[in-house]
Amino acid sequence: MIYIANWKMHGNPRDIASLNPVIKLTKQKKYRNLKIVYCPPYTLLDLMKNKIKNSKLKLGAQNCHTNSDYGAFTGSINSKMLKFIGAKFVIVGHSENRNFGDSDFSINKKIKSALKENLKVILCIGETLNERRKKITKKVLKKQIENGLSKIKEFNNILFAYEPRWSIGTGLIPKEKDLAKNIKDIKKILISSNKKLKNAKILYGGSVNPINVKEIMKIKDIKGLLIGGASLNSKKFIDIIKKSIN
Ligand code: PEP
Repeated sequence: MIYIANWKMHGNPRDIASLNPVIKLTKQKKYRNLKIVYCPPYTLLDLMKNKIKNSKLKLGAQNCHTNSDYGAFTGSINSKMLKFIGAKFVIVGHSENRNFGDSDFSINKKIKSALKENLKVILCIGETLNERRKKITKKVLKKQIENGLSKIKEFNNILFAYEPRWSIGTGLIPKEKDLAKNIKDIKKILISSNKKLKNAKILYGGSVNPINVKEIMKIKDIKGLLIGGASLNSKKFIDIIKKSIN
């Protein structure tokens, strides 16, 4: 299992101490092999890198620019800078960024630039509430996957996070049968877009909490969780981790 903690636009230097119980958890034999990736805002990457340097935790960023070269892009951070600061992962195509202009085309460029710097990409895909109501979820997922992966030939460093956009931050999660179907559809779309994606890792994200995690984990093809709000509270985050594997 892999757990991605997405802190979104939260956190100040003093909040780094909240990692202590998580670091302690990963020292226990039972939890030693879990992969836990913290994605703080850019401003905390360096501090967090130092905090986790002797632990099993890994560092990720929440986004990157489409361009991996340096340039006149005020306010932006590229994959080269992320690599330099010590990030190993980057989230691309998060719904909150799709809402603010990220398109399949820009997401494809971001993935390429992240792969160029040997970062592992967490590609977020998912339908809006309107698309779900119109019953076009599969079509939307297919378009996001195929366009997002356009002209990419190596997939070892790409993880796929299924995040229904209506589920993020709302407390709502899909019904078990819908989640099972959508994960199955994603698997089929991945394989039909490239055979190399047969064993691609699929994560679930969207309002995961200690109460609903067991229900989500009934879907055996889910190999990880992308956790936003609940990852800010280490007690909740640890509870999710424990309940997801017990
Ligand atoms: C997310 O940030 O991708 C996410 C799933 O957020 P939350 O867990 O708060 O819904």
